Amino acid sequence: MDKIGFIGLGRMGKPMASNLSKKGYELVVHDVNAAAVDELVSLGARKAVNLAEIAKECGIVITMLPSSVEVEQVALSPEGIFPNARPGGILLDMSTIDPLATERLHVAAQQRGLSVVDAPVGRLAQHADRGESLFMVGASDEDFKRIEPLLYAMGTTVYHCGGVGAGGRTKLVNNYMVVALCQMNGEALALSQRFGLDIAKTLQVLFGTSASNGQLRMNFPNKVLVNDTTPGFTIDLAHKDMSLVLGAAHALKVPMPLAAAVFESFSLARASEYGRIDFTGIADAICDLAKIPRARVPEGWKID
Ligand code: NAD
Repeated sequence: MDKIGFIGLGRMGKPMASNLSKKGYELVVHDVNAAAVDELVSLGARKAVNLAEIAKECGIVITMLPSSVEVEQVALSPEGIFPNARPGGILLDMSTIDPLATERLHVAAQQRGLSVVDAPVGRLAQHADRGESLFMVGASDEDFKRIEPLLYAMGTTVYHCGGVGAGGRTKLVNNYMVVALCQMNGEALALSQRFGLDIAKTLQVLFGTSASNGQLRMNFPNKVLVNDTTPGFTIDLAHKDMSLVLGAAHALKVPMPLAAAVFESFSLARASEYGRIDFTGIADAICDLAKIPRARVPEGWKID
């Protein structure tokens, strides 16, 4: 079995690497945060001396980093993955990054006899914890076959969306809808609170009509509505994704006025220092701005 390098052990990378380790994969791990590395080492992974060591030892290197900047730095710097990798190696980038950065990496990899697969992650952090993530993959058929078993060790659902870049583009379409729904739910809850409505009754109505949506049903009841805004997925990362969505839309002349409005709502939230909380906390940012009591369900409330 190929030794696997894993770089980026944050809210998502940690459970994903843990699940690989539990399924018997031999991992060599790295993160700029030493505590995150120690946690994986306690589960049986080995701490990398440096990136070059990961590149030399591991046929497949997974990155789960915040943005294009960190992924390109890890892949392309002289002491990084590409300059030190074995021929035939795969960089399996699972972060949500600019698909144009993925294409730059693809070209640089091919020049060195390496390849890139983009396999961003769908569903919530709690799904990653349970090994129930969904993956959308951009890869050649040959590379897809090599990485597919790893994905099933970290999740339940895998879609091969097309060639390199197709995974990341699918993820942008997905996250546009996810973040826009989050904004819409936040505004609707603020209005309901201002009206002085009973929140349990309002939610019961929303879940019973076509107003219901995945964010309201799957995420809000476990996060902001029960006063938990620890991330999850941060407002900063949601803002980064909306910036990628708008950049791609502008370049291809796709009008997305709603995306622009949602992006700026998240810009406002970040300016008021909500950036590091869970993105369902956009509901709190809206309520706080308008001096409306935050939307919270009563203790013991459950979806019918
Ligand atoms: P995070 O901020 O919790 O984790 C990022 C990790 O990368 C941190 O541990 C950080 O120390 C490490 N890191 C940063 N720069 C580094 C570098 N140069 N070298 C090594 N390590 C470095 O972020 P996350 O929530 O785990 O998200 C990671 C990626 O996955 C992002 O692109 C995000 O958009 C995407 N994503 C997140 C979720 C979610 O629900 N959190 C879901 C799907 C996709």
